[in-house]
Amino acid sequence: MARLPEHQIEQVRESNDIVEVVSDYVRLKRSGRNYFGLCPFHGEKSPSFSVAPDKQIFHCFGCGVGGNVINFVMQYEKLEFIEAVKLLADRAGITLVFEGGTSQSVPQKSDDLSNYYTLHERVTGLYEKALWQSKEAEPVLAYLRNRGINDETLKQFRVGYAPDMWDFVTQQVVKLGLSKEVLNRSGLLMTKDNGGFYDRFRKRIMFPILGVQGRVIGFGGRVLPGDDQTAKYMNSPETPIYHKGNVLYGLNLAKDEIRKTQAVILVEGYMDLIRLCQSGFRNVTAGSGTALTEQHGKVLSRFADTVFLCYDNDEAGIKATDRAGKILLDAGMNVRVIELKDGADPDSYFDDHTPEDFQKLLDDSPDFMSYLIRYYKPRLRSATAKSNFAERFVSDLALMSNQLTRELLLSQFAEGMGLDEPVLFRILRDKTRRQPRQRNNESQNDATNTPGATPGPIRLESATDKAEYELLRLHFTDEEPVLKWLLTNLDAEILERMHFRDIFRQVRIALEKNLPLDRKQMVEELSDSPWQSLITRILFDLDTEKAITIKLAQDCVRTLHHFQLHEELKVLRQRLREVEKSGGDFRAIIQQKQALELRLKTAQPD
Ligand SMILES: [Zn+2]
Repeated sequence: MARLPEHQIEQVRESNDIVEVVSDYVRLKRSGRNYFGLCPFHGEKSPSFSVAPDKQIFHCFGCGVGGNVINFVMQYEKLEFIEAVKLLADRAGITLVFEGGTSQSVPQKSDDLSNYYTLHERVTGLYEKALWQSKEAEPVLAYLRNRGINDETLKQFRVGYAPDMWDFVTQQVVKLGLSKEVLNRSGLLMTKDNGGFYDRFRKRIMFPILGVQGRVIGFGGRVLPGDDQTAKYMNSPETPIYHKGNVLYGLNLAKDEIRKTQAVILVEGYMDLIRLCQSGFRNVTAGSGTALTEQHGKVLSRFADTVFLCYDNDEAGIKATDRAGKILLDAGMNVRVIELKDGADPDSYFDDHTPEDFQKLLDDSPDFMSYLIRYYKPRLRSATAKSNFAERFVSDLALMSNQLTRELLLSQFAEGMGLDEPVLFRILRDKTRRQPRQRNNESQNDATNTPGATPGPIRLESATDKAEYELLRLHFTDEEPVLKWLLTNLDAEILERMHFRDIFRQVRIALEKNLPLDRKQMVEELSDSPWQSLITRILFDLDTEKAITIKLAQDCVRTLHHFQLHEELKVLRQRLREVEKSGGDFRAIIQQKQALELRLKTAQPD
């Protein structure tokens, strides 16, 4: 069976800086030597998720998850160890060489997500080949070029073509030997009544949708010009790897630029994005196959402070702007609106405008509220129209989770529309109280952002747990005298009765081999172990000013010893009562009890 040699895993780990990788998923801010952010594994309002670049580990002090860069990817992407290593290898451009086989021969389970990734990658290649090489696609290619998209851009976005056939993809992918279930759930094929398959996408321009790590996870298919038979766009359905509610098209290419500029341009369509990108605006992204969700808002706010909404300038586009703006404000972003004139969309805009024109629009773009007021005020002439609009607006605000944003917007709105502020505030308070918050069920049910069941933090409530924790922490110090003391003085009697004895055992075996401990190695060894998060917590704790002394070790041992004697005493007292009741001879027990009580007195912790 193929396996990955240790040095390859090491290389992958070292080529993927944990801060960089985590930053693709979590907005991190530096504070001192570490980084902090909101934990992606449990809901929280203040950051307790920490990343230590010097140790290359993460730990959440809220829910207790922790580990190295590979563990982070495993937990976030819900991947097996080897799959996470593969993803990180791709990210760093490392080709993995497996022992006893090629990377293709890694054993795969049928529910393994890698099957879906492999399938999507293969199909992307087929569509690309069809666009560039088939006779049928020649007019399609001519059309795209005519729309002002050059070949380089088409290749960058891996645009392809699904030919007008029922089995173009089907006949190729059945050869891959994937299970029927994978083919069925991939969203690429449809099932026939007789159980066979046929292609979902036919006679369409294909835009592969890539996840933030650059793997194809779905497709958007656009009809050919002049074909009014079917919907203009058709997207992959929800699949095990494609969750519309939190995927943003083009983010994999745009993320660095977005992070650098702290600004993102949000458009509606794939073509809009491609045109903008080709015109030199590289911090652009788009929703894919669904209206903007709260989840999208959260994703965007991880990368940037400011979002420029650039939707079509028609009625539907303005409605979408209105809705998206509120979601993004609620996610804590500054929202500005780019207004294209005369029903234009970003794609057609560049037919007769230059990038400089667009830059000017960007620079002059109003903030969201000014835009809304300027748009709606002249359109709401009657008192009824105005009050209906205000009602709807306040209802939307009531759905926001951020109270401060809600109230600031309301003040701005009241002033801009010339409405009575106290009255609006009263309505808002009323609605906030009454309305259960549910704007977007889709995003709330979407569990993709809270991967797996994460173990809770190990709570150190009792004095003995605290003492055990401190003792374990001392094992990770560099101070040799302390380490030597621990190895010689922590006796089996105490160790065997500890709560954390399993992890003590493992740590001490490693320590006996190597003084001081190889911390990275230890984190690595504990992948998949419930103890891993305890260790990452300890590694963060090593930075604190807490003393590392033999005296501390002695105190902890005394606490544990004291507790253990107490426990023995309890057992003895119980036995004494039983023997008394049955009328037996209890003198021996009394002697034992007295000896124990004496030991307990001398073992009293200070
Ligand atoms: Zn957490």
